[in-house]
Amino acid sequence: MGVSKLKLPKVCEYCGKAFEAKTVTTRFCSDVCNNASLRQRKKQALEAERKQQILQENTATIFPLRRQLCCLEFQKTPFAD
Ligand SMILES: [Zn+2]
Repeated sequence: MGVSKLKLPKVCEYCGKAFEAKTVTTRFCSDVCNNASLRQRKKQALEAERKQQILQENTATIFPLRRQLCCLEFQKTPFAD
């Protein structure tokens, strides 16, 4: 198949510029955008990890509160029989 001759109109996922992709998997107009996006994703992954850490640290204080709410909810619910 002449995939190499194929030119797909695409929009760069990083800078939003229109470009012609050589393959269907191409997502960026250039290596510059490809690398920049990779760096950005790494940074976002780090931030997500940090958020997860903060969440875990706070779970200890949030969880007993949630359990209390559950108990209140249970008391309000009438028994089926
Ligand atoms: Zn780009």
